[in-house]
Amino acid sequence: MKFADITGNGKVASALMSMADSGRVAHAMLLYENEGCGALALAMAYVQYLNCTGAKDGDSCGECPSCRQMSKMIHPDVHFVFPVNKGPKTSDEKPTSESYLKYWRELALADPYFTEADLQKAIGIESKNGLIAVAEAKSIISKLSLSSVSDGYKAVIFYLPEKMNQETANRLLKMVEEPPEKTVFMFITHAPEKVLQTIFSRCLSIRVLPLSKDEAQKVKALRPEASEEDSDGFMELFSDMMNALVGRNLMAALECGESAAALESREKQKAFCTFASECIRKIFLIQHGMACIADVPDEEQEFYQDMAIRCGRTFCSKAIGNIEKVVSMIDRNVNSKILFCDIVNRMFLSI
Ligand SMILES: [Zn+2]
Repeated sequence: MKFADITGNGKVASALMSMADSGRVAHAMLLYENEGCGALALAMAYVQYLNCTGAKDGDSCGECPSCRQMSKMIHPDVHFVFPVNKGPKTSDEKPTSESYLKYWRELALADPYFTEADLQKAIGIESKNGLIAVAEAKSIISKLSLSSVSDGYKAVIFYLPEKMNQETANRLLKMVEEPPEKTVFMFITHAPEKVLQTIFSRCLSIRVLPLSKDEAQKVKALRPEASEEDSDGFMELFSDMMNALVGRNLMAALECGESAAALESREKQKAFCTFASECIRKIFLIQHGMACIADVPDEEQEFYQDMAIRCGRTFCSKAIGNIEKVVSMIDRNVNSKILFCDIVNRMFLSI
């Protein structure tokens, strides 16, 4: 994958290129994207550029041995970690990414903009949660302890570090903190508030921006998103709800919940939930000194800054977790009035 092949996020690509050119390569980076916006493609293009022996005009050559291996995702010094579970496509009792590497490659080569659901389907664990367990940390540590096969950088492209438990993170921490020479970790997250702080704090964080409509059209695997028109209405509803919650006005907050439940289709209700989660993530990032990657438009700065001050420090993580539950319940045809009333109550109690 060359930078030139990536749709959107030209500024992120330039920043990665300049970093590689300057020789000041961060040993751990965290790319935060809304699902399907190209963070994996950017990470792959960056690693390809770092290791390319014939780079010219600000991009990798695509032809040297390293680029050829990268283009097939078989570079011996580039490792992939992603959430897995036991399933019919492996006989491993404690599967790691290695157990599913073949399917991962097929998926990412066909479409690097895939979603988490696409991945679960590709590796045959649709009905389970993908996890990054401690066996994965052991495997990565042993791979990185070997000297590199080629002369370039060793890299770990780590998809969804939020799926890693504390034990796994503890095992990896020292490696992330003080990796062997010429080693880079590229973490790709959809939920930075769930990435363990010990890992987060050691990374250089970069925001991968949502794609424009034109860009999104080019990317076939982009998940269905609310149209711009809908999002405008969503922002008003979301801000009314949040203002009611921080103002301790339960009745007004419940009315907003009823409006959400009255959205005309389940798909639209789910789209509102996704929208609300993304907004709450912005509040979380501002609260944790990461406003630079929160991507808040100028006209919404005041609202988000105000919310960051008025919401409690644990509110955002709890709220996002609860919203995810609502989405899965909507899928199971649970009455939406009850669901939205319940979530407003929970948010009211935890704000
Ligand atoms: Zn090359």
